[in-house]
Amino acid sequence: MSDQPSPDSTDFIREIIAADLASGKHAGVVTRFPPEPNGYLHIGHSKSICLNFGVAAEFGGRCHLRFDDTNPTKEEMEYIESIQRDVRWLGFDWGEHGYYASDYFEQLYEWAIHLIRAGKAYVDDLSADEIRAHRGTLTEPGKESPYRTRTIEENLDLFQRMRAGEFEDGSRVLRAKIDMASGNINLRDPVLYRILHASHPRTGDAWCIYPTYDYAHGQSDAIEHITHSLCTLEFEDHRPLYEWFLDNLPVPSRPRQIEFARLNLSYTVISKRRLIQLVREGLVAGWDDPRMPTLSGLRRRGVPPEALRDFSERVGLAKRESVVDVALLEHCVRDLLNRTADRRMAVLRPLKVVITNYPEGEVERLPAVNNPEDPAAGSRTVPFGRELLIEREDFMEQPPKQFFRLAPGREVRLRYAYLITCQEVVKDAAGEVVELRCSYDPATRGGNAPDGRRVKATLHWLSAAHAVPAEVRLYDHLFNRPDPGADGDFKDDISSDSLEVLRGCRLEPALAGLPVEARVQFERQGYFCVDPDSTPELPVFNRTVTLRDTWAKIQAKGKADT
Ligand code: ATP
Ligand code: MG
Repeated sequence: MSDQPSPDSTDFIREIIAADLASGKHAGVVTRFPPEPNGYLHIGHSKSICLNFGVAAEFGGRCHLRFDDTNPTKEEMEYIESIQRDVRWLGFDWGEHGYYASDYFEQLYEWAIHLIRAGKAYVDDLSADEIRAHRGTLTEPGKESPYRTRTIEENLDLFQRMRAGEFEDGSRVLRAKIDMASGNINLRDPVLYRILHASHPRTGDAWCIYPTYDYAHGQSDAIEHITHSLCTLEFEDHRPLYEWFLDNLPVPSRPRQIEFARLNLSYTVISKRRLIQLVREGLVAGWDDPRMPTLSGLRRRGVPPEALRDFSERVGLAKRESVVDVALLEHCVRDLLNRTADRRMAVLRPLKVVITNYPEGEVERLPAVNNPEDPAAGSRTVPFGRELLIEREDFMEQPPKQFFRLAPGREVRLRYAYLITCQEVVKDAAGEVVELRCSYDPATRGGNAPDGRRVKATLHWLSAAHAVPAEVRLYDHLFNRPDPGADGDFKDDISSDSLEVLRGCRLEPALAGLPVEARVQFERQGYFCVDPDSTPELPVFNRTVTLRDTWAKIQAKGKADT
């Protein structure tokens, strides 16, 4: 067993695979990620992608990307392209192994004929409603269709004519002949083919009958010599059917289906059915709205793919469904960005500060560390002059006890620069503070006083003359409760303040001209990334996540409790 590749960490799926390799059942591992191209990928899919591609890589095997494109009415090329882009972005490569279930339509059709010839499939003229009514319930057996006893010849003839386009949508289906009394409803003569006169994104009008997911999926696995077909728990009850097909068709290999729990996330809806509603009804700006849990939304939000892979690993694999706290995802994002993102200064709501004893027209370039967590990130300089901008909320005229930032008569540190003291508050006619007049201590360059006196606050700031205007979008959870939809329509739980757009922001010069998706920390504010709406005149930044880490708190509390 020791000569087999083995993963760093293990779980029930990796254990099964390791055992299958050790026993010689399989010589190598082949997995697949099988999206239906009827929407954009979401964070739940990223768990499945990380699992399938991750397991294949760990055991020296390969992972296929296979589009389960069996339902032409809901599928589009746009989705196929977005899915490929997103899988690559997450960091995985299927190489030459990109496939489509529609590549197998002819083979699947031949195998349907095979089942008919073996007396194991029949054409049924019952309507969809009648078939449903005949199906029975969990406690009652189903009823056999009157068409179940058709002869093989009649079935062959009708099925060929279904393919030839002689019949209307919904008028007939092909069903497997298994057992209408089975305790497993999926074995009560499941539908294999339905008539759909619809153009398919890849096969065009070549077909007007389409295989069902259940019929296409396992056989596609077998054609591709998939060894371990990993899927989510809702397919557990379909496994006997998956195996029935393998038992009754001359398939070239025998894959094994293994189920794991799907990812659910607090404050988030994940199912494509719901995400598509948000997009279609204009409740978000599109599939890549930074509040969406889609991979394109998370990318636009600034979430690095490494953080998603880390998240997926930390969530792990389970056989029972649970809801993961979205704070864990945010923690993974912070953890990575803390190590990798350059620090910069940005003032979101500027307040003008004039340093009255600083020479008019003079500019100094003060060195500033890019990332204290990463010495290799080096440093830059930031310009300092007589007119500065600070954050409006960093000043209070009448500060309460716990407020240590700037106030009349008080001294604070400007990061990388000097200690300044507020001497005078200038207000407009409406009584609003529009300017602070401060003095600086030239002996405190770099931020420390030679006489050792201390200040309680360090503020970020900008030189007004050098600051670059920007728009900043502050995002928060899209939903205002952890379990959207638990008490009715999930759309009623959409939060009214999930987005705040700030237009008068200012940035230090080093933040101008960054490429889209560049990620930085705005000191004291959070992590931000460049939005594709940016122009050379006006950069737009999205807040990925704030600096406050609720997950770290939850964990610290957990430790304290035990
Ligand atoms: P949804 O329920 O959002 O519509 P789906 O399962 O219908 O998703 P598919 O395109 O069929 O979407 O999914 C492709 C693969 O991703 C499947 O193997 C599916 O089991 C897996 N998957 C989908 N959602 C999740 C999730 N939340 N967690 C883990 N895996 C998931
Ligand atoms: Mg599905």
